[in-house]
Amino acid sequence: NIVYLNGEFLSIEDAKVPVMDRGFLFGDGVYEVIPVYSRRPFRLGQHLQRLQASLDGIGLANPKTQQEWTQIIYRMIEQADYADQSLYLQITRGVDSRRNHAFPAVVRPTIFMMGEDLSTSSPEQREQGVAAVTAADIRWLRCDLKTTSLLANCLLRQMSVAAGCIETVLLRDGFLSEGSASNIFVVNDGMLLAPIKNHLMLPGITYDVVLELAAQHGLRSEVRDVREEEVRSADELWLTSSTREVLPIVTLDGKSIGKGVPGPVFANMYAWYQEFKATVMRA
Ligand code: PLP
Repeated sequence: NIVYLNGEFLSIEDAKVPVMDRGFLFGDGVYEVIPVYSRRPFRLGQHLQRLQASLDGIGLANPKTQQEWTQIIYRMIEQADYADQSLYLQITRGVDSRRNHAFPAVVRPTIFMMGEDLSTSSPEQREQGVAAVTAADIRWLRCDLKTTSLLANCLLRQMSVAAGCIETVLLRDGFLSEGSASNIFVVNDGMLLAPIKNHLMLPGITYDVVLELAAQHGLRSEVRDVREEEVRSADELWLTSSTREVLPIVTLDGKSIGKGVPGPVFANMYAWYQEFKATVMRA
């Protein structure tokens, strides 16, 4: 599998980063995960826009123009082993001569990209739903930035692994923020509820798609603070992400959500999502 590192396309075994890279020492970097279907990137413009926002948020100049990113991404996709893949793109603040928290005087960012097999969800997960646990959101207050400092997300995600579940739903001060690696939606009385995009959650690209599809198809939605009780007493609970699309959570902390099976609103949204993807990919 071919990866991209600082201007070169290499085999993954040959791609090496110095130990003084600030990504390694401090987790000082940002990233994106872009889904690719039939060798076409999905919502590339939006991913590159969010990448810019993350770079701005950590005070790192974008090392490439939008056009340059697009070119590199298409070259990665051409060479990939898989037609459907999840494209990972990371930029760190580069290598310094000393370990020093303050930024280096001259910054040469390290740019890395790799493709991985895209395995969205299994038919079984969609037909039977998945289980999740909840946890207190212990992350920092800039969850809107897609940074490589993901230790809290890793610890939180591992809680669901330990419980035999697939995601950890994060609650902060009695309100829903998101999942450890996904956004979370609630359906109550036929109304789709989603938390407000702010510094406490990642502005998901899939989150936007789901809200757009709801609007297009006449599903009522409300973007507002979502209380913990509304999550626990939801008729339906979904997680969304670029790699998992939309999935129904039917068990939360061992208790059934709604009837304990994927709901009718999910079935609609999943169908709309697939139809939308097909339309975009044909265009
Ligand atoms: N929230 C977190 C913390 C994430 O890591 C992700 C990405 O997987 C998401 C939300 C979903 O974002 P997107 O739909 O852009 O993949």
